[in-house]
Amino acid sequence: MFFTKDKEPVIFKEHGSGEKQLEELQLLCDKAKGKLKEEIEQEIRNVKAGIAGEENVIFELKNSHIPMYVLRDIYIEYEDYTAQIDFVVVTSKLIFIIECKNMYGNIEVDNKGAFTRVVEVGGRKRREGIYSPITQNERHLALLRKMNSDKQAQKGMFSKIISSLIGGSFDDNYRAITVIANPKSVVNDRFAPKEIKNKLIRADALIEYIKRENAKSNAIEWDDKSMKSFAEMFLSKHSENTADYTERFRKQLETCCPECGGELVLRSGKYGEFFGCSNYPECRFTKKKA
Ligand SMILES: [Zn+2]
Repeated sequence: MFFTKDKEPVIFKEHGSGEKQLEELQLLCDKAKGKLKEEIEQEIRNVKAGIAGEENVIFELKNSHIPMYVLRDIYIEYEDYTAQIDFVVVTSKLIFIIECKNMYGNIEVDNKGAFTRVVEVGGRKRREGIYSPITQNERHLALLRKMNSDKQAQKGMFSKIISSLIGGSFDDNYRAITVIANPKSVVNDRFAPKEIKNKLIRADALIEYIKRENAKSNAIEWDDKSMKSFAEMFLSKHSENTADYTERFRKQLETCCPECGGELVLRSGKYGEFFGCSNYPECRFTKKKA
């Protein structure tokens, strides 16, 4: 066995669900018209940005020359909880749970840790509150922590490996981090609480962060075989997320005007009720009331 080869990162699960989502959205977009089409096009841009952001992270990890196992897009269901984790990175001491954000615009974090996205449209700033990715990631970690402490689950592979390999407590071995993948985004977290600031980094600082945290950690160092067992364990807990991302668009598509994308409204004429287009008289589409 070549020692140097062992030290290179292993991309254990390379693909996410984004591509499939994109395909479905594209199909709907081809059929949609008007405002709905614009909405779907916007969603396509968002999904594409998400994929591009994840590709950025994969690129950084691949070129890190740190021994690690990388799993992209892991979906875990446990009891009533679910976690869609962008990346699980198993290194020789720590397991990193990474939330990847790639958004257009700048990001502000206030002194309470609330996130706002700031986008400039036509010289004017538009502000929009977003769900904190830090909180989201903490919930992912909470699910794993719960799974780990579950007596019932301890019979399973998950905790058997954890308890046999992890010397310290769960929190000694996990780090939850949010990566801002858009290099153009300015992150203003001047007033953010320190514990939030510490969990928010840019993609190009990810490798330094992983190195630093591993160096600081007192955890037992795992060999390659153990690292691989962790990666296999995560993969075994992964299932396909059956949530229908395109459902809301498909439902709208079914209920809107096929000619112009306008809303269908119930109208009454001399032969009874029928559906007409809200863009009447520009659009003269009608449909029988079922
Ligand atoms: Zn119409």
